[in-house]
Amino acid sequence: MTTLSPSLFLLFLLPWAVMPVVAVIPRPNAPVELREVPSPDLEPDSALLDVELSEVCGTDVYLQQGRLEGVPYPLVPGHVSVGRLRKTRGTLLDVEGRVFREGDRVTFLDVHRTCNACWYCLVAKATTRCPKRKVYGITYGLDDGLCGGWAEQIYLKPGTRCIMAGADPETFMAGGCALPTALHAVERADIAIGDTVLVLGSGPVGINSIILSLLRGALRVLCIGAPALRLTAAAEAGAGDVLNFEEYDERERLEWILERTNGRGADATIEATGAPDAVVQAMRFTRDAGRVVVVGQYTDHGPTSAEAAFNPHLDLNKKHLDVRGCWGSDFSHFYRSVQLTSDPVRSAPWVALKSKLSRYSLTEAN
Ligand SMILES: [Zn+2]
Ligand SMILES: [Zn+2]
Repeated sequence: MTTLSPSLFLLFLLPWAVMPVVAVIPRPNAPVELREVPSPDLEPDSALLDVELSEVCGTDVYLQQGRLEGVPYPLVPGHVSVGRLRKTRGTLLDVEGRVFREGDRVTFLDVHRTCNACWYCLVAKATTRCPKRKVYGITYGLDDGLCGGWAEQIYLKPGTRCIMAGADPETFMAGGCALPTALHAVERADIAIGDTVLVLGSGPVGINSIILSLLRGALRVLCIGAPALRLTAAAEAGAGDVLNFEEYDERERLEWILERTNGRGADATIEATGAPDAVVQAMRFTRDAGRVVVVGQYTDHGPTSAEAAFNPHLDLNKKHLDVRGCWGSDFSHFYRSVQLTSDPVRSAPWVALKSKLSRYSLTEAN
């Protein structure tokens, strides 16, 4: 019905699936193929999950195109998934100390093996930069086991952080991986009560950033993005005003922002576009002494163009800007994302987004 990703795989499971089917990217730029692989023997404190829903996000497209470094092909994509515990071995506990039982519907943090022993984990307290970190569906390949969500089953290795999924897992999946990513971004942006926030990009991270900026108390959120369909979704998510960047050049976009901010620029800007030039524009569209968070450059799209060349004096120093990168998300962002989308009142924006998702079966992976 719409091109608004993330999209969902809706899987109809065979309860006797002893050779679960997985969708594999065999190597960069090759079509996805279905394979049957043996169900694993469970190590202590591990589990096997029957997948109900998994996600297709922009990263999966880049994975198919081979644009991320350090990816062990063949790869089963799908890093955010929901399913039911088919089999557990040993004791699996959630963060509250509750025991998971077979049959429970759970989701899990895609980041695994953050070591809690290295300099980044312990001194910098920046676990998303832990060198031991592995991610299901991205840096775990098929050789590491059933480690991706585009599959009938996922092997939850010991130490995987599971959370009870709410009664309506599709609402959580409507946020998808973009929700914890955006939650981390608005946290980095220090959105304050009464702020005017500018979101560049109207993809899933942009739309989740709009919703979460408002939850953090922003007075209003402006969004520059494209195409029109996604800008409609941005407005429905709460953006007070939207602009299609395809129809206006950088100077016109800046004028549009200044007209809406008493000539100053946004208090905080979240860049979620994937276009390097947008990073410099984010700095120019933000008021002096404001905040810029860069969350849209998850894959390497190279340097900015010559026209967008960064001027350290004008774009940063003189503006007294606070510019921050934002890489991935940790358990706290994931946990709070599940809480939000499970709450009868706070989940409303994602309940609305749910209707825009497209659903595919595993056989339609390509
Ligand atoms: Zn570490
Ligand atoms: Zn993703």
